[in-house]
Amino acid sequence: MAGSILIQTEKITIEAQPTGDGLVLRPIGAIDEDVNFTGLLSAALGFGPISWVRFDLGGVASINSCGVREWLLFLEKARTKLRVEFENVSVVMAEQASIVPNLLGPRGSVVHSFQIPYYCSKCDQATVRSVATEDFKKNPARFLKPDACETRGCDLQFDALEDEYFRFLGPGNGR
Ligand SMILES: [Zn+2]
Repeated sequence: MAGSILIQTEKITIEAQPTGDGLVLRPIGAIDEDVNFTGLLSAALGFGPISWVRFDLGGVASINSCGVREWLLFLEKARTKLRVEFENVSVVMAEQASIVPNLLGPRGSVVHSFQIPYYCSKCDQATVRSVATEDFKKNPARFLKPDACETRGCDLQFDALEDEYFRFLGPGNGR
C-alpha cells in the first residue's frame, strides 16, 4: 500500500505508511526550523487510533541546530501520546545522536536499525549499509571490517570515528 505525503516543501518530504496499529513516518531531506512538526503530529494522530510511530530516518540528509531543537520538542510531545521508535538511522542522524542526548528518544528507546558509512580508497567510493541493531550488538567487529565490494582488490573501510559513531547506542552498545 502506498504511503501518503504529510508534509512536502522544497527542503523536505515526510511520508506516512500505516502499519498495523502504528504509523511509519519517513522524512526525506533536511530537518530545520521550517519543518511544521505541530502539523506533522496532528496529521499522524489523524490517521486514527495508532499506538506507535516508527521513524525511518534513512532519508534524512541534514539537520541543523534549530532543526535539532524543534525535533527534540516534537519527540517530547509525540512521546506523551505514542510509543516512538526508529529505524534505518542515517549517518547524519547517527552522528548528531552521538552528540545530542535524546535525539533518538531517551535511553532505552528502540532503534531497530541504522546506517554505517564505508569508503573504499581503491574504488574512491563512499557507501552506506543498513544494519539491524541486534546484529551489530552481537558482533560489532564484523561491521568495522566489512566484506569488500564486488571490485577485485577492493579495500572497503569503516568511514567514521569508531569511538564516536556508535555512541548513540549507549554504553556497551546497550541503548
Ligand atoms: Zn572498492
